[in-house]
Amino acid sequence: MIELNEWRFKIRTFFTKLFIWVSQRTSIEEINEVSLLNERTTIYSFRSDSAIFAQVTPIGTIIWNKSRMEGLSTRSKQLILRHECSHRDRNPIYKGILYGMAVSFAAGLLLLLISFALLALGASPSELLTPVLIAVGMIGSFIILVRIEETLADYHAIRDLGEETFIDAYNEISSESDNSLHAQGLRKVLYTDPSDTVRIYRFFQRIS
Ligand SMILES: [Zn+2]
Repeated sequence: MIELNEWRFKIRTFFTKLFIWVSQRTSIEEINEVSLLNERTTIYSFRSDSAIFAQVTPIGTIIWNKSRMEGLSTRSKQLILRHECSHRDRNPIYKGILYGMAVSFAAGLLLLLISFALLALGASPSELLTPVLIAVGMIGSFIILVRIEETLADYHAIRDLGEETFIDAYNEISSESDNSLHAQGLRKVLYTDPSDTVRIYRFFQRIS
């Protein structure tokens, strides 16, 4: 049993290292357990100038960008970790649909690109209407699913940490975030505004 757990750990570490190398172009600095929440959580730390604070990998491990996380207060680290644990613990069927839609999103982008290229080469707009609508549908459905996923993760964070900690921590994280136009645009498209999460939380508090 111990051997099986050791092998599991080795395989997870190998794929997490690979994920960090591919997505962040850097290597793991350390693997440790943190007790920021009620349970101990294993995190794989690295350092990078990228916009991410922490993230769940497709194999369910949590990666942690020390360059961004080190300066944050404990409550902000708790918010980020609770948010990522919510992603990690999501129903596997839902996760499967989300990853499937990510492939559909990429195919939609490609279809859109091809449609624009054909338009530039002289194809009539009426001919391209159907492929463009399909592409928009493929891209749009993925964005909607991601927004639902992100709202769920934030909802679990506010539910467990409380409204006041959630708002304070969010303000702190926003002030430490990458505020380039590109990062701000991505946040607007993919993430729910924290004030909307607070509204959803208050609504469920009222009806429960
Ligand atoms: Zn998230």
